[in-house]
Amino acid sequence: MSIKILIPTALRQYAQNRDSVELSGKNAGELLENLTREFPDLKKHLYDEDGKVRNFVNIYVNDDDIRYLQSYETEVNDGDIISIIPSVAGGAEAVNGEFSKAEIERYSRHLIMPEVAMEGQRKLKRASVLLVGMGGLGSPTAMYLAAAGVGRIGIVDFDVVDFSNLQRQIIFSTEDVGRPKLQAAEERLQGINPNLEIETYETRLTSENALKILENYDIIIDGTDNFPTRYLVNDACVLLGKPNVYGSIFRFEGQASVFYAKEGPCYRCLYPEPPPPGLVPSCAEGGVLGILPGNIGMIQATEAVKLILGKGEPLIGRLLLFDALAMKYRELKLRKDPNCPICGENPTVTELIDYEHFCGIGTEADKIVLEPEFEISVEELKAKITGEDTPFILDVREPHEFEICRIPNSVLIPLAEVEKRVHELERSSEIVVHCKAGGRSAKAVKFLREAGFEKVKNLKGGILAWADRIDPSVPKY
Ligand SMILES: [Zn+2]
Repeated sequence: MSIKILIPTALRQYAQNRDSVELSGKNAGELLENLTREFPDLKKHLYDEDGKVRNFVNIYVNDDDIRYLQSYETEVNDGDIISIIPSVAGGAEAVNGEFSKAEIERYSRHLIMPEVAMEGQRKLKRASVLLVGMGGLGSPTAMYLAAAGVGRIGIVDFDVVDFSNLQRQIIFSTEDVGRPKLQAAEERLQGINPNLEIETYETRLTSENALKILENYDIIIDGTDNFPTRYLVNDACVLLGKPNVYGSIFRFEGQASVFYAKEGPCYRCLYPEPPPPGLVPSCAEGGVLGILPGNIGMIQATEAVKLILGKGEPLIGRLLLFDALAMKYRELKLRKDPNCPICGENPTVTELIDYEHFCGIGTEADKIVLEPEFEISVEELKAKITGEDTPFILDVREPHEFEICRIPNSVLIPLAEVEKRVHELERSSEIVVHCKAGGRSAKAVKFLREAGFEKVKNLKGGILAWADRIDPSVPKY
C-alpha cells in the first residue's frame, strides 16, 4: 500500500528537497513515523521533545484535518494523500505566513492536486490578472479566477448594467440594473472570495492610459467587444511583453488563443488590419447565444491559470475555434509573422497609435453623413402621424427585429432587399425610413435619394429613440 505525503516548501530542505514521498502505513501516525525514519532531520520539526507532534503542525488526510477525524489513528487507504501544513506557533490564522486556515480549506481541492498543491496556490495568490471589459467574457472569467484564488484582479469598464446584459453577463443580478458594472462586479467577486484584492478602473482603455494600467498585471484578458480596443490591448501587451489571453464571440461561434509575442504570434500576426467598419457586425448588432461567452470565458480563465501555474500547453500559436451548434472545436496553427508591424523583425509600430482611426471609425467609410434636411426627429414624426399628412414609414430592419417591436403602420423591407423591391415604394410620397438606431436607415435613405426619391428622410436615433422619447411601451433590445 502506498500513500503520498506532500512535503510543504518550508520543510523540504529536511527531506532532500522532495515535494512528496510515497510511503506505506496503516494510519496517519504510523505514516509520520515512517516519514521521519526516512528523513531523520524532519523529526525535530515535526515532533517535540516528548515525541508528540508539534501543535503548530496540522495534518490533513486528503482534504480533512485529522483533528476532526480520529487524529493519528485516522486510517489511510491506498491512493490517499497526506498533507503536512505547518502553521505559525500559537496563531490560528496564518499558515506559512501566507494562507489562513480558512484559505487552506477553501482551496483544498487544488491543494490535493500535485499539479497545483501549495506551491501552485501560492503562485495563484501572488498573481495578478487584468480583465479588459466586464461583459459576457469578463463575467465568467472573473468569477472563476476569483474562486481559484488569483490574488489581485483588475477590471477596466465604464458601463452601467443594462437589462440586455443579464442574458449572458452572469456576474450581475437583476437588482444590479442601473448600477455601475465595476461596483456590482467588485461586490460579487468579494462575495465569492474575500481574500482577493480587486482593483477597478472606471474608464475606457485608451492609448493614453493603457500602458500605465496594463503594466501592473502579469496577464491581460481581452474581453472587449470592438476592434479598436482589441488592437490597443494587443499592441500594449506586445510593447510591455505581457501575455494576452484572447477570446471573441459571435452568435454561436467563438475563438480563443493566447497571444504572447515573446513566445509566439500576436493578434496582428493573425489579423494585420481590422475589417472595414460595418462589415463584421458586433454582438449588439448580430446577437450572441447567452451561454457562448461562458464557453469562451472558461477557456480564457483556464489559460490564465495554466500560465500562472506554468503547467500544460498554453494556446500560444494556436487558434481555437468553437462552434456551439455543431458542438465542435477546431484548432488552427498560428505562425509568427516576421513582417508583423508590431512584433515582427522590423516593427513599424513602436508606440500606441490612434486605434479609432486605425479601425476606420469616424471616417467616411464608417458612417453615412446625411444633410440635416434629410433627417427627421422622432418628435417631428410623431407630430406628422397625429396630423393629416401621415408619411409612409419604411422599416429596414430584419423580420425578427420587426417581431420584437415596431412603429404603428410601418412597412418592413429589410435593407438588403430595398434595392430589388424599390418598385413597391411611391416616388412622390413622403417616406420616413427607420431602423434600430439610424445607421442602416441612413444607407437606405442615401440609396433612395440617388434613385430619385425626393421626399425621403431618415429617422434620427431609430426605434430606440422612439422608445425613449415617444412611446415607453415599445421594448428596447
Ligand atoms: Zn505580431
